[in-house]
Amino acid sequence: MKKHLHIPLLLLMLASCSEDKSVFPTLTQDVCIGWRIDSAITANPAQFNVLERSKYAAIYSYTEEILQQLLESDGVRNAEAFSWQIRVINDKSVISAFVAPGGYFYLYTGILMALDNEAQLAGLLAHQLAHIDCRHITKMLLRHYDLSTFESIAAGLEQAELDSIIHGLVNGSSTLKYSCSNEHEADSKAMEYLFDTGYDPYELINMYRKLLTCSVVAQFFAIHPWDDGRIENLEAAWKNLGARHGENYTERYLDFKKSLP
Ligand SMILES: [Zn+2]
Repeated sequence: MKKHLHIPLLLLMLASCSEDKSVFPTLTQDVCIGWRIDSAITANPAQFNVLERSKYAAIYSYTEEILQQLLESDGVRNAEAFSWQIRVINDKSVISAFVAPGGYFYLYTGILMALDNEAQLAGLLAHQLAHIDCRHITKMLLRHYDLSTFESIAAGLEQAELDSIIHGLVNGSSTLKYSCSNEHEADSKAMEYLFDTGYDPYELINMYRKLLTCSVVAQFFAIHPWDDGRIENLEAAWKNLGARHGENYTERYLDFKKSLP
């Protein structure tokens, strides 16, 4: 039997293809806007007390080594295009982590202290990596700004907009808050990346269980909304990929936590 594409569906597909080519920012523009965000964050130590790389080299090499293992997964599409780096923000009262487009990760010492082992940190980084690689923030921004405004922000011409974006990335806002479908996509991609490492992928699930039971409500969930059914979806993804366990590196992680200021 011959199959015929429904005409409105065909038009829709053509429209979305042309939109991808002509309207969506390039990967380089993701890196540009991420670099602007990162520059503003590192220039504001009163709000973001970023640990100096030269003084805390061991903390950065430890976290970036974990990220490097995740980046080697075949599931990461933009590993070569983006500028990957981690910033650790010294604030143990904040149990959160956020990212900026183009490869920038921000981890508060509060969330690093809350986790139990290195595999959970790999899980946290994998989830964040998926948001960057799937370009979730860029897609959110494009719902709010047209491409020329996006380009102006990336070029550093719209300081007020940049400040508003940073506020949204850190705290969540009507413009910048991941949808439940973003969260599910990031979880399933994260599981895929973790299966390509030696870490126990199930620790991604335990990472969430840990954050959900923190004595202070984790700010993480203000940005990354939680919905019932998430654990079940994660367990299904874990089973589909082979239900294996792996290394947790708990002792090594406890030593790492002791090295945090
Ligand atoms: Zn998320």
